[in-house]
Amino acid sequence: MARYTGPVCRLCRREGTKLYLKGDRCYSDKCAIGRRNYAPGQHGQDTKKQKNYGLQLREKQKVRRYYGVLEGQFAEYYNMAEKMPGKAGDNLLQLLELRFDNIVYRLGFAASRAEARQLVVHGHFTLNGKKADIPSMILSVGDIIAVKEKSRSSAKFKAIIENHKVTVAQWLQVDPDNLTGKVIAEPTKADIELPIEEHLIVEWYSK
Ligand code: SF4
Repeated sequence: MARYTGPVCRLCRREGTKLYLKGDRCYSDKCAIGRRNYAPGQHGQDTKKQKNYGLQLREKQKVRRYYGVLEGQFAEYYNMAEKMPGKAGDNLLQLLELRFDNIVYRLGFAASRAEARQLVVHGHFTLNGKKADIPSMILSVGDIIAVKEKSRSSAKFKAIIENHKVTVAQWLQVDPDNLTGKVIAEPTKADIELPIEEHLIVEWYSK
């Protein structure tokens, strides 16, 4: 499937906010948002006030890029969210948070969502004891994620056992020594570190 392969810091600069796409670098003074916080390109420093259409588009793109989801799949998530009970915007954020790759990242088993996606695709995880290699799977409360027995001896996962420093969200539970994690509740907007105005995304899809 086609995926964006260009410079990822450019995406943050386009959205004018940190999207945390590069692991540790995002928390260092090398972050491009700290150094050049204006949109890339010739007109990047123009200060034009955005109209509704622009605001809605930017909010959708920001969230889509944050989770690393392609356009078509994002629209599918929105359709699912609309059919669920409750508010479509809240449901959409919950579905995105419950993606398998996001949970692997949130558990501290990968430095970024992109790395989490790659680790999942390469078959390093099990879900409820069974092989699971689809990053877009939506997990549920009670699901147990574990690093495969065979992968535990790799340098990557050994380093996680020795130096797991991620404070996991309240809706997750992690056991770094055993490289396992569990979904213990449904995520809410308050659990997301990115400020999101989901009503703009709802307005975008309601046109
Ligand atoms: Fe680059 Fe991360 Fe900073 Fe975004 S948050 S600009 S990906 S270093």
